[in-house]
Order: sequence, then structure tokens, then C-alpha cells
Amino acid sequence: MSYFFLDGYEDMEMYSPGEQPQDRPYIKLNANESSYPPSPAILTALSQVQINSMSHYEDPYNKQIRKAIGDRYDFSPEQVFVGNGADEVIGFIMMSFFREGFNIASADITYDFYRTYAKTFHLNYIQIPLKDDFSIDVDKFVDVDSDIILPNPNNPIGKALPVSEIERIVAKDPKRLVIIDEAYIDYGADTCLPLVNKYSNLIVVQTFSKSRNMPGARIGFGIADKELIDEMRKVKFCVSPFNLNTLSQSIGIAAVNDTEYLKECTSRTIEIRRWMQDELMKDGYHVIPTLTNFVFFRVDHMPASLMAAKLKERGILIRHYDDERIKDYLRITIGTRAEMELVMKYIREIAEEYKKESMKKAS
Ligand SMILES: *Cc1c(COP(=O)(O)O)cnc(C)c1O
Repeated sequence: MSYFFLDGYEDMEMYSPGEQPQDRPYIKLNANESSYPPSPAILTALSQVQINSMSHYEDPYNKQIRKAIGDRYDFSPEQVFVGNGADEVIGFIMMSFFREGFNIASADITYDFYRTYAKTFHLNYIQIPLKDDFSIDVDKFVDVDSDIILPNPNNPIGKALPVSEIERIVAKDPKRLVIIDEAYIDYGADTCLPLVNKYSNLIVVQTFSKSRNMPGARIGFGIADKELIDEMRKVKFCVSPFNLNTLSQSIGIAAVNDTEYLKECTSRTIEIRRWMQDELMKDGYHVIPTLTNFVFFRVDHMPASLMAAKLKERGILIRHYDDERIKDYLRITIGTRAEMELVMKYIREIAEEYKKESMKKAS
């Protein structure tokens, strides 16, 4: 450690994203990225004028993209905050509303980044166990004496809560901030955006990284009461006023306006997801119901980590977690139909191979 690095940062826990190995080409189904390109409307938006706009700073109020997002979801631009990905939006929420020693509660099995934020900002991170069926234990969240951050649907599980259940959590105490991360909302779950005009202690976060197929553009947004959004912008102006680059703002507007393409991509993913779930169930896997662009299922007949390793040998990356509670599970992002057929073929090969080897060892 250098002489200058802060003591408190020594045990910082860095977020570990899905691996991106470069040793060979892989089919990447480990980070819930998309196998589809972003909206073709983006190319039209990227005119020479837009490219030349890079010679100036972007409007730090991000007026145009906030208006486009607001119009799309029926909110005033004053209720919209945009960031360099949902992760940054959550970062600004942390900087604006949380300080050392504050409590924040989430689920025990959820998006790892929340724990990273909590550690970085020296918060007490309260992990409320999912129920046995891996659903969020709403009663416990209603009762917990703490601010709350939850993804809906949950990652890496895939299950979603109905809006009425989230409302119970939000309505319990207006002095309790509730952040609902809707990264996967376009794949079939109901958004709790309608609650925003009813409750001033709710922030809903969404992203262009999943359903709009553009994680590389880094665009995320938060929608909340105007006052909260104003305060987040104050903090943004103190840390990184030009947080979103000019090109991302232009293409973001084009993407948010192309509702038809969004629908086309998500419908296709939902259809392939149904196929993949059916195939896995046919083979006897326990598949968790999902409203996302991934499936999460249990591998009983062999170590799940071995299945993941064998798939990697065959050029396919998926996600396995070491957490005790889900170590027998795998998460696979829904790619194209051809990609999923290949994955299923390999899963069957690997399972068969393992069975033969175990029988050989036994005899
Ligand atoms: C992928 C993901 C994000 C990250 O979104 P970015 O906009 O790429 O930063 C946030 N929350 C959850 C639950 C995710 O799965």
C-alpha cells in the first residue's frame, strides 16, 4: 500500500464483475449482457453534428435526455437523474443520502455491488435472508429499522415482487429511503414507477445496459421525487458535473425513443427464456421462475462449479457463485436461440460424460 492510500480503504471490497477472459473467443452468457445490437436508430442519431459536439462540454443538466426519459415514462424531467450506468446512479444516491454508520438493508443473495457500496461508504449492511423458495421476505423488510436497497427482479435469482408488496415496504415509514433497482424490469415484471408520485421516499433505478442492449454506452437513470433528484444533482455538480458523455446522451435519446425495438428484443428474449427453462426442466433441473434475461437453476447430479468449468472449456462463459446458499446453482444469460441450443447441447454432453466417469469410478 502506498504512503498516501487511505487507511479506511485497506479492506475495501472491490466488486468482481463477470470475467472477461481474452485467451480465445467466448460466447459470453455470464454478465447478463445482450446478444443483440443496440437500436439501429442510434446510427442515425450519430450524425456528423453529434460527433462534432464532442468539441464542447455536454449540458451538465442533461436536459435533453432527462426529458426524453421523462416523456417515455410520464414524469417531468425534474424527476429524472441520469448517470454513467445504474451503478453510478446508485453511487450518487449513496453520496447524497448515506454517511458512515447508517444502516442499509438488502437480501442475502442479491446484486453484489450493494455490499461493495456499503463497505466503501462505511455503512452497516444488513442482509435479510431470502425465504426458502428464494423470494424476498417482504415482512422482514417492512419491519427492518433501516433504509433499503433491493433489485426487482432480483439478480442472480430472477424472481420479482408484485408492486403491492413493494408498496408495503415503501409505505411503512416515510423517513425510510427505499431504492428499487429495476435493471431487469423490461423482461416481464411490473415496474413500481407509478409509486414514485405517491411516495417521496422511493427512488427507482433503471439502466440501458440490459433490455436496451447497450452496457458499453453506460447509461442509467433514477426516477424519484423532484427534491431528491435536485439534491443528487447538487452532489453530482460537486463530484463529476459532466458525468455522461455527449455521444451517450445522443444515442440514449435515440434508444429510449425506439420503443418498438425494445419490445422486439425483450419479446424475443422472453420466448427463448421459456424454451430454455422447458429444456432444463425436461432434464430434471430445478429451475427458478424468472422475469429477467437469465435463468437460474440447480445442478444436482454434479458440482455446479464443474459444469461451469466444463462449459468454459467449450467456449461458453456462465456464472457460478461460491456463496454457500447458491453454490449448487448456475446463472445463464439468455442469448440467441442458436446460442442457447448450443449451451443445452453442451450441458447434456457434460452431464452424460460425468455420469459415465462416476460409473467407471464406482465399478
Ligand atoms: C447489471 C445490473 C446493474 C448495472 O447497471 P449499469 O447500468 O450497467 O451500471 C445494476 N443493478 C443490477 C441489479 C444489475 O444486475
